[in-house]
Amino acid sequence: MTAALRDTRTISLEDEQATVKGWVQEIRNLGGISFIVIRDRYGTLQVTAPKKKIEPELFQTLTTLPRESVVAVTGTVKKSDQTALGLELIPSALEVYAEAMSPLPLGVVDKVHVEPDTRLNNRFMDMRRPEIRAVFELKSLLMDLIGEAMQEMDFVQVNTPKLVSSGAEGGSTLFQVDYFGKPAYLAQSPQLYKQMLMSTGLDRVFEMGPAFRAEHSNTVRHVSEFMSFDGEMSWIQSQEDVMHTIESIMAYVFPAMAERGAKHLEILGKEIVAPKMPFPILRYQDCLEMLASKGMQLKDGDDLGTEGEKLIGEIMAEEGHDMYWIVEYPELEKPFYIMEKEGTPYSFSFDLDYKGQEISSGGQREHRYEQLVERMRAKGLDPDSFHSYLDAFRYGMPPHGGWGIGVERLLVKMLDLPNIREAIIFPRDINRLTP
Ligand code: AMP
Ligand code: MG
Repeated sequence: MTAALRDTRTISLEDEQATVKGWVQEIRNLGGISFIVIRDRYGTLQVTAPKKKIEPELFQTLTTLPRESVVAVTGTVKKSDQTALGLELIPSALEVYAEAMSPLPLGVVDKVHVEPDTRLNNRFMDMRRPEIRAVFELKSLLMDLIGEAMQEMDFVQVNTPKLVSSGAEGGSTLFQVDYFGKPAYLAQSPQLYKQMLMSTGLDRVFEMGPAFRAEHSNTVRHVSEFMSFDGEMSWIQSQEDVMHTIESIMAYVFPAMAERGAKHLEILGKEIVAPKMPFPILRYQDCLEMLASKGMQLKDGDDLGTEGEKLIGEIMAEEGHDMYWIVEYPELEKPFYIMEKEGTPYSFSFDLDYKGQEISSGGQREHRYEQLVERMRAKGLDPDSFHSYLDAFRYGMPPHGGWGIGVERLLVKMLDLPNIREAIIFPRDINRLTP
């Protein structure tokens, strides 16, 4: 009888003999009998070793393995009322792939507090904890679902360069690299490229890829490398078309996350609550008034700031809204590619805020060549250094608009995580470049 290769998800009482591979999570030696807990991606399995009934050498090795060693255990599957799986394995053979050194840099099952830095320094070990892995299973699902929603709406997935010659979001957050002796930068966003694609006829594109920001702010919501979900679409009548598209994406993603992520959410003890649709629309000016009513005085043109965003989040939560738009930002606050609202100091731009935090910015773009060059100049930029971008506007550019959504910011608020670093396996910030 050959043993079937199983994991803790697939093993069943139908298997007489099975082999399971994983990490030795725990060993309890009770004299005449020992219990060894083997953990894999999906859960744990109890290996029960009665001293008298198994080979002495096998018993000896199995019961003295250092915790977290990697093994394959083969044995007989027996019914058990004592285990979560309803079965246990009586071992007949053991293969040790790798013995773990001790002490461990941090415990996997111990309930002691570990400093965030220790966790991140030993992320491989930190992620052996199911509740940490669950977040990344959900992140993977979230990105899949975004892809599905985009496909359904006929968006084409594209990839734009991450090594670029100029920035789109202002010079202060650019990382410079040496590109064959010339200066180049890590892309802050796919902004310029996704807009250029609007002149190709590929009139709806999206990208999910890394964006780099040399952010000097050491906060729970800023990192220097994040996953940016960008979309750009042509033939819009107004930025409302873009906003409706984002609402459709959220309407697709939220229930599917709750449904298809149920297992992982259970591990986290969390529930995903879909935001009420359609999202209310606040004008920037409304926000200033809302903040003033709470004693926070901002000048017209000021950034709402972290505190302002949080306060508005609290006010909106009282009204039962987790997600809401903030529109009509002052043109001066917005990048050159945004369309001005003629005759006003405002712009056709929006932010999407979720539970008191910006998760997306977007709007209608300036597609008219002359006006675009004019805006660049007004912002102190040299149109010559943007010539390959500008060329795409010279020979026929449709009206268009788009957005950038920070995937981790969305996930963090969805799961109410305390820090964006909890949603990035190997985060990058001002203090961290390894692992
Ligand atoms: P922006 O073009 O600067 O408005 O960025 C678009 C979106 O990317 C923001 O709404 C955030 O969700 C996300 N984002 C921007 N900067 C960062 C950062 N430093 N860390 C994490 N996410 C960011
Ligand atoms: Mg923004």
